[in-house]
Amino acid sequence: MGNTQKSTKRLATARELQQIVAEFYLEGHEAKRTGKPVGWMPPMNGLIEIFYAMDLMPVFPENWSPVCAAFGLIDKNYQAAESMGFSPDLCGYLRNCVGYINGMMGTEGVPLGGLPEPDMIFMPGAGCVPTMKNFQYIARRFPGAKVFLGDPPPVPIQRYHIDYAVHEIKRIIAFLTEVTGRKMDYDRLGEVVRLSDQACALWDEITGYRRCIPTPISAAEVGLMFVMVTRQGTRTAVDYLARVRDEVKERAEKGAGIIAEEKVRLFWDNIPLWYNLGLFNYFEKYGGVVVAETYSAAWSIRLDVDNPLEALAMKSLMSYPMVSCVSMKRRKEMVLRACRDYHIDGVILHSNKSCLPITLGQMDIKRALHEELGVPSVVIEADHMDPANFSMAQFEARVDAFMEVLLQRKGSGRR
Ligand code: SF4
Repeated sequence: MGNTQKSTKRLATARELQQIVAEFYLEGHEAKRTGKPVGWMPPMNGLIEIFYAMDLMPVFPENWSPVCAAFGLIDKNYQAAESMGFSPDLCGYLRNCVGYINGMMGTEGVPLGGLPEPDMIFMPGAGCVPTMKNFQYIARRFPGAKVFLGDPPPVPIQRYHIDYAVHEIKRIIAFLTEVTGRKMDYDRLGEVVRLSDQACALWDEITGYRRCIPTPISAAEVGLMFVMVTRQGTRTAVDYLARVRDEVKERAEKGAGIIAEEKVRLFWDNIPLWYNLGLFNYFEKYGGVVVAETYSAAWSIRLDVDNPLEALAMKSLMSYPMVSCVSMKRRKEMVLRACRDYHIDGVILHSNKSCLPITLGQMDIKRALHEELGVPSVVIEADHMDPANFSMAQFEARVDAFMEVLLQRKGSGRR
């Protein structure tokens, strides 16, 4: 197995995803062609629902990075970023995005046609520093785009934070009306929020089936997350996820695991290696399946459908702390809870050179896993966006030894 590898998907519905991805990017180019305003934004902040409700086109440059990794475009983007002085030590999403918009964007032959240029840019005033810097560079690159500067509080949620966030949501709607001339239809917004919540309920149901032994779906299908990032609030997401749920449910009811004989259940902490999702299949030769991971849990926030504005305000406050800007104590609790819920035998801690916010605290998690649950863990040094920071040989050496330990423990009746 090389440094880059696609995963083997077992779900029939997972194979439909390619079409959904292609349609999303096609829709972006169609929007540009027909004059529908395009806005670039970070994911998961309540903006996507507002965009779909106002019939505007949302674009997620951060999400474009895994697509670039899958299409093998990242080397060129990194070179472009480096030639501008961006250090290889910075987050791969930031480097890829900056390199892309200042390099191959707009050139012939970019897969899926690349990203449509923004008419509007939503700069987050919260989240990790690379995200905020990324949008500053985007705004600099497209000086003609109208910029909205968000200012959400990255703090625990009190009533006055929610009131403030509702005010911010109204400020976004007013900005969009001023820039595009389109008014918000609040009945339509209610419908979009309902669809968004339905998608989250389906996502929770699908991930819930991973508690089954054997699991009917593994991390090798993590690409499904694309609809949660780009299509929340649409019928496309709900219909697709309902099909995935039906397939997963049927497998669970039949007791059909994702591999023939599931022996070891694993948890993956931190972002997957987008250029090598095939790693999730590597464990299978030992009967190992990655049944849960930190990242996919972060894409579902249930919404109060009777109060759409407040629901989106809550989402804007809760989304970043779901994974990257969460306290170390809460992150540790999340991993420990997942290990209990999903009957985990061992944990892979991906020490991610590209993402320090999510990597921070892993040694505390490792200790807590051992002391509180007796669950062994192994640290893998890698990078979710840059294959140059990953060694397959080192991965194999560590994982082979780790899996042998886990199999011995299982053989001796220990968890
Ligand atoms: S959370 Fe991590 S991966 Fe995401 S932008 Fe921030 S540093 Fe990069």
